[in-house]
Amino acid sequence: LFITFEGGDGAGKSTQAELLGAWLEGRGHEVVRTREPGGTRLGAQLRELLLHGGEEIGAVDPRAEALLYAADRAQHVAKVVRPALERNAVVVQDRYIDSSLAYQGAGRVLELDDVRRISDWAVEGLWPDLTVLLDLDPGTAAARRRSRGGTADRLEAEAAEFHTAVRDGFLALAHADPERYLVLDAARPVDELHTAILARVAPSIRL
Ligand code: C5P
Repeated sequence: LFITFEGGDGAGKSTQAELLGAWLEGRGHEVVRTREPGGTRLGAQLRELLLHGGEEIGAVDPRAEALLYAADRAQHVAKVVRPALERNAVVVQDRYIDSSLAYQGAGRVLELDDVRRISDWAVEGLWPDLTVLLDLDPGTAAARRRSRGGTADRLEAEAAEFHTAVRDGFLALAHADPERYLVLDAARPVDELHTAILARVAPSIRL
């Protein structure tokens, strides 16, 4: 079973992924908790470049950016995700192809079909069984990130329109594929969100 969490930065993906992972482990499943970008050694370097490359790499062309994310994903699927799924582990992951469709597609205004094609090629057609979209308005998300502290990445500098386009991009993807997606209002309390996620995951888990 392959479960991904999507949504803007500050929506609470990692928190919910951790809670779900712990619940699954409590039920005796092997769980692989992982994330993109940066789920492999190569990926960690790509993540650093993509998010903190700064002056050293200069402005990154949108197509180059999309291909770097796709490269990160190809390595991650080949080395981590597919082997885990093959031994019947449950993979619980922060971000996947939908992030590229929303950020590089809707956000950077690349053609969605192009981004989908390179991603699909990168992962040899591996799509998640379930994708939880934690939807949050960009203003609230930014406030959460500020209160959480930490170092700002390149995306922090993007205009409000970029984050709005990303959010709308995620929602459009979810509406187009309700079978795969569970959309939740990320402003709800952590425990309520966890319960809603379990209600969707539990039936598809063999005990
Ligand atoms: O959620 P996480 O902290 O791992 O995301 C890292 C950064 O990479 C975020 O700023 C996110 O918006 C960005 N990102 C992106 N395109 C992707 C995946 C992540 O711009 N495909």
